[in-house]
Amino acid sequence: AVVVSSRMRVRSQRRHARNVLQEFQEACSTPLPRLRQVVDAMAVEMHAGLVSEGGSRLKMLPTFVDRLPHGDEKGLYYAVDLGGTNFRVLRVQLGGKQGRVIKQEYEEVAIPPELMIGSSEELFDFIAKELSSFVAREGDGFRPVAGQSREIGFTFSFPVQQTALNSGTLLNWTKGFKVVDAIGQDVVAALQTCIRKRGHEMRIAALVNDTVGTLAGGRYWNEDVMIAVILGTGTNAAYVERAQAISKCGNVLPKSGQMVINMEWGNFWSSHLPRTQADEALDNETMNPGEQGFEKMISGMYLGDVVRRVLLKMAQEAALFGPNVPRKMLEAFSLGTPDMSKMHADESSDLKVVGNVLRDVYGIENTSLAVRKIVYEVCDTVAERGARLAAAGIVGILKKIGRDGTHSKWKVASEQNHVNGWEEVGSPVASECGKTVVAMDGGLYERYSKFRAYMQAAVVELLGDASKDVVVELSKDGSGIGAALLAASVSQNGRK
Ligand code: BGC
Ligand code: MG
Repeated sequence: AVVVSSRMRVRSQRRHARNVLQEFQEACSTPLPRLRQVVDAMAVEMHAGLVSEGGSRLKMLPTFVDRLPHGDEKGLYYAVDLGGTNFRVLRVQLGGKQGRVIKQEYEEVAIPPELMIGSSEELFDFIAKELSSFVAREGDGFRPVAGQSREIGFTFSFPVQQTALNSGTLLNWTKGFKVVDAIGQDVVAALQTCIRKRGHEMRIAALVNDTVGTLAGGRYWNEDVMIAVILGTGTNAAYVERAQAISKCGNVLPKSGQMVINMEWGNFWSSHLPRTQADEALDNETMNPGEQGFEKMISGMYLGDVVRRVLLKMAQEAALFGPNVPRKMLEAFSLGTPDMSKMHADESSDLKVVGNVLRDVYGIENTSLAVRKIVYEVCDTVAERGARLAAAGIVGILKKIGRDGTHSKWKVASEQNHVNGWEEVGSPVASECGKTVVAMDGGLYERYSKFRAYMQAAVVELLGDASKDVVVELSKDGSGIGAALLAASVSQNGRK
């Protein structure tokens, strides 16, 4: 009788866990009509963010990048890339149209966690130090222009209000950084000072967001690249906008007639987003509550923790992992997105990998297949939601620039007549532009294959027929090279 009742208890707990799962799945669901609402909201918010400062939660930051690389860039350039998790230094010898990238070298280090919450000087001095030792090891095959100081592209993957291509102040941190005294500082000046202190005559020629660097790096190889998206520790997008559409810039329009916009889409918000209690609880425990709501549903820094919160609820309410709640499961961010991805990639019929991860991360032994299935389902739900929202974001941008297939030829063409200069700057009307390429980068997109597959499928689902003209392609590590290319394009010696 004891055995029977304990079995019954387990069964009823399992049922309870299944209910929690089902409720969560419903709260996360993104059927096509709902996804379309997100697409529309994205396009509307983009517009609002371009019209006035603070007009939307989408910052839609002007980047002062008004021409993208053509392939004729020449010379030796450096780049430093401060992202979310890693810091990278890079040098590239550009050979112009024929030679392209003659030689390239880079080094990458993990950002010491204490620097993410320390002082501005410590952080920028760390970058200068790494750069300095990297420059000292400049070897054969790299040819600095005689008598000219080496120039740097600075990839800085946080929201910056730029005043020129080579200056801008930090608006706020994201992705767990909290270097308070850097907010409001000109990050170029801060880094430039630290570089000078080390006795180097290097000049920061371009400050770029990683999305902008990826766009530039992508365009260097492929003329059809119009949009870049990062799906990594954080998430964001940049794209090429008509200068006339950026009303908040007033009359200071670039001659080229276009400018790259750093959307900072991580901070996008809409009532159509499928938000759950887990998302709210997560938000409260981050360094930037109330901000980056879209990012917290999509990017690598957070997905694993959404999963953990749902599992924790199942452990607490339905004893999913036995009578005791695994202690470590109470710890925020104890389940990384790589762990989640590993479980989600488990194709074995007994979900052995899921069991192994639960054991290794939380010390849970001997899970039953039924339990492992539930865990797998939670991963699947969280990844699918994030991927479909990212897809909706991309299609929102396509819609904004008239490349989502919903603009009739006539409509787009007649709009053209009222907008001087667009056609001349090489941004063809939708009816005649062949492909639109979206350059993607970031560890989440690169390494989480089910996330990637869900995203691609949702783009096709949303675009229908028009999806044949849209190519989403991995543009690996383009952001550093892209920054170097943008430095070259403004350098006096960079385009001979
Ligand atoms: C930052 C963006 C960045 C993105 C991807 C976000 O948290 O706000 O500036 O592009 O992460 O790295
Ligand atoms: Mg990066």
